[in-house]
Amino acid sequence: MKAAAFDYVKPKALPEALSLLAEAGEDARLIAGGQTLLATLNMRLSEPSVLIDITDIAELKGITLVGDHLRIGALVTHTEIEDSQLIAQHAPLLKAAAPHIAHRAIRNLGTWGGSLAYGDPAAEWPACSLTLSAIMIIHGPSGERRISAQDFFIDLYTTSLEPDEILVATEIPIASSNQVFYFHELARRHGDYAVAGLAAVAKKQDDVLTDCAFTFFSIGATPVMAIQAQKIVNGQAVNLDLITKAVSAARSEIEAIADITNSAEAKQHLIGVLLERGLKHLVS
Ligand SMILES: Cc1cc2nc3c(=O)[nH]c(=O)nc-3n(C[C@H](O)[C@H](O)[C@H](O)COP(=O)(O)OP(=O)(O)OC[C@H]3O[C@@H](n4cnc5c(N)ncnc54)[C@H](O)[C@@H]3O)c2cc1C
Repeated sequence: MKAAAFDYVKPKALPEALSLLAEAGEDARLIAGGQTLLATLNMRLSEPSVLIDITDIAELKGITLVGDHLRIGALVTHTEIEDSQLIAQHAPLLKAAAPHIAHRAIRNLGTWGGSLAYGDPAAEWPACSLTLSAIMIIHGPSGERRISAQDFFIDLYTTSLEPDEILVATEIPIASSNQVFYFHELARRHGDYAVAGLAAVAKKQDDVLTDCAFTFFSIGATPVMAIQAQKIVNGQAVNLDLITKAVSAARSEIEAIADITNSAEAKQHLIGVLLERGLKHLVS
């Protein structure tokens, strides 16, 4: 199938893009890397009257160190994240996660902001942004607003972005020297979306973990933090007994949802498998 006819505009600056979005209303779609949107247009799952191509807007580009935060522009591609020295040094969780996103050709075009805005529960960046306590910087008709990743992902493919808003960038606190991380996903083939995945960080002192953040993805309508498991692990020596308690808590507090090929039971089981592997890795 081919996409329905649409108008195409390519603004050079953010205010121009916001005006175009306001004028066209819900009939418009922003396009960044196009790696998700073009498929939905071709399948006619979406038939916007106008596409607003945001790829010329400088404010949406680049990875910069701002004090104790990394600012990642919405247009930064998955490949830029994978190859960035700043990311490797200050956000190693993202460096570890990037190669799991599809294949290099898709990563060369797909963007950080496009992935967050789309809110796919099986995607890597929403889970990582939750784990890293990211702040989303959003511009709309009434100026800038900031919202935590925790409040940003609302439901299946649903974020708190309004149709007249643009995700401009994300701020992430830089990793401290005692922070350890774990990223793993179980997929049938490399590059496939995960059957289930875990993005985790914690501060480590010997075999004790604190400030734990464990986010599971591809198991429900949004990425989900295992709050009870985090509480069990925080401040305690990690041993087999603690791992068993944390695994049991995570499996009880998260209600996995089946997808087209995997049952809820399989995903529920994998939550425990991932957490056990993750905890062993974090204290190793
Ligand atoms: C074969 C294949 C395999 C893939 N596998 C994976 C995978 O394993 N993991 C994964 O995470 N992704 C995967 N993807 C998706 C890919 O990562 C996309 O790049 C990403 O989901 C969307 O980014 P994009 O820049 O292409 O967004 P687009 O397709 O351009 O846009 C996606 C949506 O976000 C909106 N949008 C884009 N930018 C903004 C913004 N700045 N502000 C507000 N709204 C915005 C658009 O209007 C649209 O609704 C895969 C894609 C393909 C084609």
